[in-house]
Amino acid sequence: EQTIGENFRAVAARTPGALAIEEAATGRSWTFAEMDRATDDVGRALMAAGIAPGDRVGIWSPNCAEWTLLQYATSKIGAILVNINPAYRSHELEYVIQQCGMSMLVAAPSDERSDYRGMARKALEACGPLSQVVFLEEPGEGPGAGELRPGELAWTGLIALADDVSHAALEQRLASLHPDDPINLQYTSGTTGFPKGATLTHKNILNNGFHIGSLLSYRGAESAQGQDKVVIAVPFFHCFGMVIGNLAALSHGASTVIPSRVFAPDQALAAVQRYRGTSLYGVPTMFIAELNLPDFDDYDLSTLRTGVMAGSPCPEEVMKQVIGRMNMREVAICYGMTETSPVSTMTRVDDSLERRTRTVGRTMPHVESKIIDPATGDVVPRGERGELCTRGYVVMQGYWDDPEKTDAAIDAEGWMHTGDLASMDADGYVMIEGRIKDLIIRGGENVSPREIEEFLYQHPSVQDVQVIGVPDPKYGEEIMACLILKDDAEELDVEAVRAYCHGRIAHYKIPRYVQIRGSFPMTVSGKVRKVEMRQEAEQLIS
Ligand code: ATP
Ligand code: MG
Repeated sequence: EQTIGENFRAVAARTPGALAIEEAATGRSWTFAEMDRATDDVGRALMAAGIAPGDRVGIWSPNCAEWTLLQYATSKIGAILVNINPAYRSHELEYVIQQCGMSMLVAAPSDERSDYRGMARKALEACGPLSQVVFLEEPGEGPGAGELRPGELAWTGLIALADDVSHAALEQRLASLHPDDPINLQYTSGTTGFPKGATLTHKNILNNGFHIGSLLSYRGAESAQGQDKVVIAVPFFHCFGMVIGNLAALSHGASTVIPSRVFAPDQALAAVQRYRGTSLYGVPTMFIAELNLPDFDDYDLSTLRTGVMAGSPCPEEVMKQVIGRMNMREVAICYGMTETSPVSTMTRVDDSLERRTRTVGRTMPHVESKIIDPATGDVVPRGERGELCTRGYVVMQGYWDDPEKTDAAIDAEGWMHTGDLASMDADGYVMIEGRIKDLIIRGGENVSPREIEEFLYQHPSVQDVQVIGVPDPKYGEEIMACLILKDDAEELDVEAVRAYCHGRIAHYKIPRYVQIRGSFPMTVSGKVRKVEMRQEAEQLIS
């Protein structure tokens, strides 16, 4: 029962001289003591800029050290950090600003992909609630950000305001906060529709991060085995980066390594080598990209011990290679959702390879899981499929300013209905079959895309695979396999794929259509947008 600020203070006092943040792109680093001071400064500056407890402060930037500093600074002063996907454009940015009533927005420097400053400036003019925009600067740019207009500040200009607020005032603010206060607003990935804003408290995310770190046995610098270094190759704006990454690592005194602003497989492995990383994060597609680097064998990954794979199902072959070729013996699979802080089930360090490939582990400490028949709400017998529901400290307060959606997701007894199709074995291990909405119903037969994906992944020419249902006049739905082939692979057509399946999987699971693609439409957190693929496919076959 601590707030994030209190927890950070306690950890920093234990090992003030140990590293807390290391940023590969710039070579900058902060020790715990330096980070404590720096986040105090940002916190005082935000107070000087008029940010009160409960005010919404947005961060719209690819990964950088300032992201983490702002995360902890807002936690110390009780402002609600609003994570904004760096891939958003004006339209989506302005939706989020209006939806949550954001008063300050911190925006990245513009780069070749995004004119962050231009779009932030436009939002300041167009969006009622927004009264201040802070421009992050390129390292070395100095008080850059060009000419500033009213309501605009450079990051260095913001920090300069810190002197107007005393340290005592900050301490007073910190002491007035409560673990049940909302501290973070995270929009869901938007895999299945429009993103929803999950309102999360200190208690939700700090405890979740802490328990994840415990199960990964993260160690601080005081440990005889040395400090863990967690290479966070996943975006901070998503709970994977900021909770499973920053909070899990820092609450145990481990350090965080930022390999690059946006994911690049070579930079992730280079950072492991350069900083002697002990833990590496990614969604399965990221690990696939790393394992497929032509110079993969040249990287020294011998310091790796653990890591987290989450977000979507991991093909078995990939897991084997992550454990074997990447040396991540203790790698864990985490399952969860933004609405549950995020992690509700997780594999344990001593789980068998089998359990780390077929299941998403067991329920986290102090959390409950059950599987129900979505039609009746009754718990189904062990081993049977149904909708997974989660209850406990991890469940969000609700969707921001949306009681209707909140009531549809969290029932009167506090169960979060995940929308995921799952089963649970006798020992409590959970298997995720996919989203209830992605289930293919072909001629009355329920077909789990996951099963076919696992099977096709074993084909020697296949690098990645997604299976979707497409409308069919005769069967209701038909099965389409969308394949990305390996660089050196021979062409595959629908007949070759069907021949490969024949006799190996049930006839009704054999794909009717095969589509060869260069890539899949992805959310920035690395999830395949099957909704979009289904729409594309419908046009292709019609
Ligand atoms: P939206 O709710 O906006 O459609 P989203 O559900 O993808 O997007 P997130 O909260 O980021 O947004 O993702 C949670 C979902 O990701 C889960 O409901 C589940 O479907 C999937 N997921 C998470 N971890 C795993 C995992 N280890 N294995 C399989 N699926 C996973
Ligand atoms: Mg969701």
